[in-house]
Amino acid sequence: MSEARVALVTGATRGIGQAIARELGRQGHTVIGTATSEDGARRIDNDLAAHSITGAGMVLNVTDSDAIEQVHKEIVERFGAPLVLVNNAGITRDNLLMRMKDNEWDEVLDTNLTSVYRVSKVCMKAMTRARFGRIVNISSVVATLGNAGQSNYAAAKAGMEGFTRSLARELASRNVTVNAVAPGFIATDMTSELPEKHRESLLNQIPLSRLGQPEEIAAAACFLTSDVAGYITGETLHVNGGMNM
Ligand code: NAD
Repeated sequence: MSEARVALVTGATRGIGQAIARELGRQGHTVIGTATSEDGARRIDNDLAAHSITGAGMVLNVTDSDAIEQVHKEIVERFGAPLVLVNNAGITRDNLLMRMKDNEWDEVLDTNLTSVYRVSKVCMKAMTRARFGRIVNISSVVATLGNAGQSNYAAAKAGMEGFTRSLARELASRNVTVNAVAPGFIATDMTSELPEKHRESLLNQIPLSRLGQPEEIAAAACFLTSDVAGYITGETLHVNGGMNM
């Protein structure tokens, strides 16, 4: 069992982020989950309460640097500095490169990659002071395999993995670990709109012949935040049903 800490999970309204928030709470941490709207933050509050987890939902757009500073300040005042950070918020704007619009490229890079730089930078100061920290970045199997129609998303996630290794080297001497989890295809809103034909061909590429569940990603992410994972840093843990062995 790990010592109870304050944990921040971005994009915790649903899917993988929600499952991670619940699992961190189950392990005894105080959990701050972020949402992009007041309504989403209230839903996180209710979900945490329903699972008897101490913490709160807060509104945060991870593309807004000022908002990150402000939310971090509020967390420190209300709960103490987060020493566990899970950079989970992410979006897709799929298109073949030939048709990709600049805004589709920019939004995905900003939300999925630059946000990780921003939020990590704000949170890492207290971690280095505490001589303890756990940063887990939610990447994707697409970072390794590539995927037609997702050059923006794959570039962001591959960038995130390089960022993870570099920051791991910078912070190791302060006992702060930085790792990534790379999910395969997981049953969430992000994959719910896959056309039936695409879904079938996808299942053929997964040795375990099914999509993963958000809880299966949460288990991997929470392991990396735990005290017993203290000797693992700069690593990407692949959780993909065998898609990429
Ligand atoms: P989801 O769409 O269900 O949830 C995404 C979360 O990110 C939501 O809470 C949303 O509000 C939040 N978010 C989006 N833009 C934001 C912004 N600007 N600021 C703050 N929050 C924002 O998706 P999911 O499937 O749960 O994905 C979670 C993470 O896992 C993402 O980083 C995604 O890239 C990654 N991932 C998902 C899959 C999958 O198959 N579902 C596979 C690999 C990686």
